[in-house]
This record gives sequence, structure tokens and C-alpha cells, in this order.
Amino acid sequence: MGAGLVAALRGGDAARAAAPTSAGVSPSAALARLRAGNGRFVNAALTNQNGLTERRLALTGHQAPFAAVLSCSDSRVPPELIFDASIGDLFVVRNAGNVVTPAALGTLEYGYGALGIKLILVLGHEKCGAVSATYDAIRDKKPLPPNLDVLQRAIEPGIAQLAAARASSEQGALHAAVVANAKAQAANLRKSAVLGAAIRNGDCTVVAADYGFEAGKVSFLT
Ligand SMILES: [Zn+2]
Repeated sequence: MGAGLVAALRGGDAARAAAPTSAGVSPSAALARLRAGNGRFVNAALTNQNGLTERRLALTGHQAPFAAVLSCSDSRVPPELIFDASIGDLFVVRNAGNVVTPAALGTLEYGYGALGIKLILVLGHEKCGAVSATYDAIRDKKPLPPNLDVLQRAIEPGIAQLAAARASSEQGALHAAVVANAKAQAANLRKSAVLGAAIRNGDCTVVAADYGFEAGKVSFLT
């Protein structure tokens, strides 16, 4: 998306004029598609993993994803499979801990402004190593290694109270931290001037979610 991204960063109007017109699926419709896709995944009834060659060829000149997903880099959390989505359906940002770094924020603002995406899902997941490592770092008062400390700083505010309070069980505490982090990152997105205005206008929605490995189910939190 190099040229398009550069255009978007130079000025929103020019980028919007060149944007694909088939995007703009409403927030509620996009959420319904994600729910339905995850339902097919849970039931091992995938329908969008065939016809990939045709889909790829149909999208050589444009893209029109119906939703954006900010998810963890964890190899067990691939958004396209979890939501039974095809090529061109999802605009995905991934990093350890699904955190709103400046690059992630700019990418998602581009998704809204230039691609017309109206739903952004922040997808946390069970047993997240990034959240767990940050939880331990707070508890033990030891920072994570250089470069990972960027992620720690992004995750820490959302879970600091949990880590300090300690839940009744370690597993319960970590799951609470995953949920708290997903909600905190969704709140961070809502603070964006671009996305905040869109949300107030009803033109965009940010939703947090939590994914469980065993059932494969996504629980929508907000
Ligand atoms: Zn993770």
C-alpha cells in the first residue's frame, strides 16, 4: 500500500477521492460478518478458504476490506482464519500484545480515512505471552528487554492495577489482564482525533474482543 499510504499521509481529501468505493460496510454489518465468520470457524464449517486464486485476481487493482483487526502476533491467532475471511476482507495490524503503537494507530487511521473501514476490532487472546510478560515485569519490578519495553509501556497502564492487586488465581489474573489490555487498547484508539470524531459521528466503531484457544471462540467485550 506504499503509494496509497503516502497519499493518505499527505492529505486526506486526495486519498479519499482515490479510495475504493465498495468499502463502507456499516459498523453493525461488519460486526455481524465477524461474528458469523467466527461461528463458522468454531463449527469447522469454513466457507471462505476456497476460491482464493479468483479472489486474488479480482483484487489486483484495489482493496475494500470490510473491517480492521488489531491482533496479537501470536501464531495461534490468525484473524483471517478465526473469522473465516478471504483475501481482501480484513485490514490487519499485528504486534505482540495487540497494542496501539504510533505505527498501529496511523495504519488504522489510514484504514478508516482512505479505505472506508468502519469497524476496528482489538483482538486480545487467552494466555497472551506479551501481556503475561508485562504482568510479570510489573509484579517483579523488572523491565522487559530493550525494544520489548515499548510494548510493556503500552500494555502496562491497562493492567497495572490488576497486577498490583493480584487476583485469586494466577490464571484468572492473566485472563483479567488480557481483557483489560484489549479494552485499554480500544480506549487508546478512541482517543485518536481522527477515529474519535468518526466514532462520535457514528461513522466508525471500535470493539474489544477476547479469543479462546480451545473453543476457537471470540467473545466481543464492548
Ligand atoms: Zn499475545
